[in-house]
Amino acid sequence: MFKKILVANRGEIALRIQRACRELGIKAVMVYSEADREAKYVKLAEEAVCIGPAPSGLSYLNMPAIISAAEVTDAEAIHPGYGFLSENADFAERVEKSGFQFIGPTPESIRIMGDKVSAKQAMIRAGVPCVPGSEGELPDDPVAMKRIAKSVGYPVIIKAAGGGGGRGMRVVHTEAALVNAVAMTKAEAGAAFNNPAVYMEKFLQNPRHIEIQILADKHKNAVYLGERDCSMQRRHQKVLEESPAPGINRKLIERIGERCVNACKKIGYRGAGTFEFLYEDGEFYFIEMNTRVQVEHPVTEMVTGIDIVKTQIMVAAGEKLPFTQRQIEVRGHAIECRVNAEDPYKFIPSPGRVTMWHAPGGPGVRVDSHVYTNYFVPPNYDSMIGKIIVHGDTREQAMARMRTALAETVVEGINTNIPLHRELMVDAKFMDGGTNIHYLEHWLEQHKR
Ligand code: ADP
Repeated sequence: MFKKILVANRGEIALRIQRACRELGIKAVMVYSEADREAKYVKLAEEAVCIGPAPSGLSYLNMPAIISAAEVTDAEAIHPGYGFLSENADFAERVEKSGFQFIGPTPESIRIMGDKVSAKQAMIRAGVPCVPGSEGELPDDPVAMKRIAKSVGYPVIIKAAGGGGGRGMRVVHTEAALVNAVAMTKAEAGAAFNNPAVYMEKFLQNPRHIEIQILADKHKNAVYLGERDCSMQRRHQKVLEESPAPGINRKLIERIGERCVNACKKIGYRGAGTFEFLYEDGEFYFIEMNTRVQVEHPVTEMVTGIDIVKTQIMVAAGEKLPFTQRQIEVRGHAIECRVNAEDPYKFIPSPGRVTMWHAPGGPGVRVDSHVYTNYFVPPNYDSMIGKIIVHGDTREQAMARMRTALAETVVEGINTNIPLHRELMVDAKFMDGGTNIHYLEHWLEQHKR
């Protein structure tokens, strides 16, 4: 097992990884930008290295600074967390060439899955069902483009091959709008992701977003840890997540879970990963794979009792998965609310000094957050400042616990989206379960203020 790991991230996930290291008896080296000097995990760290100024391009995305921090501290491995460099194949390659273990899949796996066109092609070969659409990149020729759209059937969605974070997508309802929409998406994709390639999918009207968590080791073992329902989204970004997905037949989950496991074995995948699907009328359609730990991983940890971050570290060190598929059991129900520093209805970011922070507690309640009273939320990064996660024997109990937890939470000095979560937890449709990916946007439209 490693003696020392460098954590190449910030915020709640940096703290989460630090905690996993502590439990495993591994020293965690934390890195920080000048804006994160006062972060809780930096204060708690045995070793911490400043890697540059506040803008992430100069710090958390600064590969030479991160690798030299690992060199000067004698770390053996680098955990990239999520976001930043976590899905950057060049970074993974440089980490390994510099003699460190990258805690994640191989650079080749990241490269294939990072391009959504090659990811879909790999999944089709591995027998995973995908959303119908163009076979590979869309051609520039308007006639060919229109022919493909016609055979897929309108409405279609144009998506950037290199897209992420809910950006680089455009829905097209008519042939008249097609050519222009493709040109615009291409231009945006080129500017935002440095890759103008786009592809086409059928735009599913009322799907749910269901994803499968997998874990794989370097010895060809792989398992799936059930599913998560992440359908509550705003601008294609997840707002709250739960596991299991309400109302989906367990046999269907087993079948798709096994397909994902087989795909992992086929592509030689190692580490933690998530297969994202759209689910409509009893069918699963693959949309993309995330080759890293995800924000919403705690709901799976709560229902399976498996520590995903610890397992990531163990398999990176070459250990075998300590459980088989048969030993994995999904128990009860878990819900996660993402706490963002933003106006709850206008979504304007609200960085600044947190004058009061009181986290909830009690049975089945978990809070993953680096915030404390008097912490300053820097304006330079993502607005998510933590997550409240609850577990209950049933979905009803989990929702009741979440309502209690949200009522106990106090955050003063900045705005947060907690008032929105409080309303959603008593919303009749959400309480019924099984809302689709458009539900929250419609809800927000109806509750405009
Ligand atoms: P990103 O990498 O930016 O997160 P995804 O491909 O995972 O992009 O899609 C994000 C979200 O966009 C999905 O959860 C879903 O809400 C919506 N979406 C993507 N593809 C489709 C599609 N073919 N039909 C309908 N909605 C889609």
